[in-house]
Amino acid sequence: MIRIRNYIGGALHEARGGGTIPVHDPSRGVVFAEAPDSDEFDVDQAVTAADDAEAAWLALGREGRAKAISRLADLIERDLDIFAHAESRDNGKPLSLARDTEIPRAIANLRFFASASIHFASESHDMDGAAVNYTERGPIGTVGCISPWNLPLYLFTWKIAPALAAGNCVVAKPSEVTPLTAHLLAELCIEAGFPPGALNIVHGLGPKVGAAITAHPGIKAISFTGGTRTGAEIARVAAPMFKKLSLELGGKNPVLVFDDCDFDEMLDTTVRSSFRNQGQICLCGSRILIQSTIYERFRDAFVERTRNLIIGDPIAERTDLGAVVSEAHLEKVLEHIRAAEEEGGRILCGGHRVRLEGEFAGGWYMAPTVIEGLGPACRTNQEEIFGPVVTLQPFTDEAEALALANDSPYGLAGVVWTRDVKRAHRAARALRTGIVWVNCWMMRDLRTPFGGMKQSGVGREGRLETLRFFTEPKNICIKL
Ligand code: NAD
Repeated sequence: MIRIRNYIGGALHEARGGGTIPVHDPSRGVVFAEAPDSDEFDVDQAVTAADDAEAAWLALGREGRAKAISRLADLIERDLDIFAHAESRDNGKPLSLARDTEIPRAIANLRFFASASIHFASESHDMDGAAVNYTERGPIGTVGCISPWNLPLYLFTWKIAPALAAGNCVVAKPSEVTPLTAHLLAELCIEAGFPPGALNIVHGLGPKVGAAITAHPGIKAISFTGGTRTGAEIARVAAPMFKKLSLELGGKNPVLVFDDCDFDEMLDTTVRSSFRNQGQICLCGSRILIQSTIYERFRDAFVERTRNLIIGDPIAERTDLGAVVSEAHLEKVLEHIRAAEEEGGRILCGGHRVRLEGEFAGGWYMAPTVIEGLGPACRTNQEEIFGPVVTLQPFTDEAEALALANDSPYGLAGVVWTRDVKRAHRAARALRTGIVWVNCWMMRDLRTPFGGMKQSGVGREGRLETLRFFTEPKNICIKL
């Protein structure tokens, strides 16, 4: 049994109450680790440790902080295999995805923000010689970072790296469902001699630890990624305290397939954008809108490709889909499929749990599912499912495609497949989403703004956006 512990003030600790939370291996449905069941006392200890560390962390200067953060990246790279296996075991995701994409991205997050903070410049505005303004951007103080289970270390580092690089001290909470890689990172912090208290990691349940971080008066800003309902709860508590908030929330992303697209490339990518990480990526396309002239061609080819996806042992190289993250999540996804059937949806493939054999018999596997025959207003096309489930809807022309795409309370990402360059620009502009990919999916440049409109969130992340979020601007005007 692996024992995960809090990382506070540079050392590992149990929760004050001594309680633990079981951590499951979704591929087998068994408990393999336990994490501290922390509460507001542990959060308070972490805030005190962070406050106490501030002077030493600032004294390192930008270069010193960047060096300390880059050293963590080097150590994760050294242990890449260990981290990738841990992520796969904790989350159920294919090892290949953790090893080739997610852990390398966590390393890139740390290096990227270590370097970006060095190049972060101040602005100056000249008033025709009468005066000059310059804008200082200093750290905020102690900040909170709360992350979800779907891309555990990838999203955890995407928050803590810029927060630290900007000179803040951090109290961070990974998801209680997937705490392992954040714990491995804490061990590397100790090995690296990372300044004690600059980063503190408190494990535990959202309504206890997450809520305590949100409500703690010593936490000046909160960067949160997770569900829309949780984001609303955080905003309800934090807004009257005037905390800075960055909220990256749910999605129900449309994929627009026009009949002039490169069909083969579109098909390859759309299979990926539907089912990668078992559909548990906030950027996955879940509503596929297809021009009626190629609807049957697309549907038949897509269903055939989906049926051929291999569901199995996450460690095996040929596995396309591993397990979904938890039994509760599997039940939630199956409940959505039952609702889709009640609404009149036709399940073209999947729609059920998959039982593997041997050691994986207790694992939480789900057949990738394609549904057609549902209108835009139904629950299935309005609510986020966050599993390996997509719907197909035909459209006749561009106007109808855009109306369907925008008929959603969410506005995170959209994908457009067309060879018509004018249409690509028109559609990209008309989509009410924070991110649009044209003829591709999930190509990420860390310098660009990332985030959603409507119920998909408030604020953006990315090089400038995040460094601005994690700093406090001060304008200084000097009369000449
Ligand atoms: P979640 O909202 O249940 O949990 C996210 C984090 O918030 C966890 O660490 C959890 O413990 C904590 N939390 C729960 N209740 C809390 C509370 N009352 N106060 C403070 N913190 C609390 O989300 P999840 O199930 O872990 O993740 C899935 C969701 O995340 C999906 O909706 C998905 O779309 C979204 N997501 C969004 C993005 C994005 O960039 N927009 C990226 C990944 C995931």
